Amino acid sequence: MVINMEECIQQKSKISEHTSETCIFCKIIKGEIPCAKIYEDDKIISFLDIAPTGKGHALVVPKEHYETLIDLPEEFPFLSAVKKVARAQSAALGTDGFNLVINNKRSAGQVVSHVHAHIIPRQANDGVFFELRHRKATEKEIADVAEKISKFL
Ligand code: 5GP
Ligand code: ZN
Repeated sequence: MVINMEECIQQKSKISEHTSETCIFCKIIKGEIPCAKIYEDDKIISFLDIAPTGKGHALVVPKEHYETLIDLPEEFPFLSAVKKVARAQSAALGTDGFNLVINNKRSAGQVVSHVHAHIIPRQANDGVFFELRHRKATEKEIADVAEKISKFL
């Protein structure tokens, strides 16, 4: 593939946005920035969010830099670490539920471009509010989109 100098510079700046040198979570993993760590093994670290939605809002972060969930290798034990931290969180805080949020890409609200799961502890009437605005769709629209997506699977 032939690319010109301008494209080359654009591509390089795109890549450097996501390298571990500039990534805040990579800096935490390397110990260059402090964090309130709650769990660590050879592949995963978990620490509390610096701007929590409520008490105990935890982040689960692979130690290796991947941008989104799609980029994580299939065999990566991400969900088992999430479950481990969620169990400890509810045992420690006495909460009875949690929301698991993984923002993938800017359009979905991802600010830190290093894949991470938010584990947000929940209690009845805790004032934490997630809004998913649902809309009506025709059966045909739903069937058409289902068919379209399933063709890629
Ligand atoms: P995102 O929107 O990318 O899913 O969420 C990034 C999260 O990382 C935010 O909830 C934000 O508060 C948290 N965060 C950003 N910088 C730091 C930091 O330096 N330390 C900690 N502990 N959390 C951070
Ligand atoms: Zn990183």
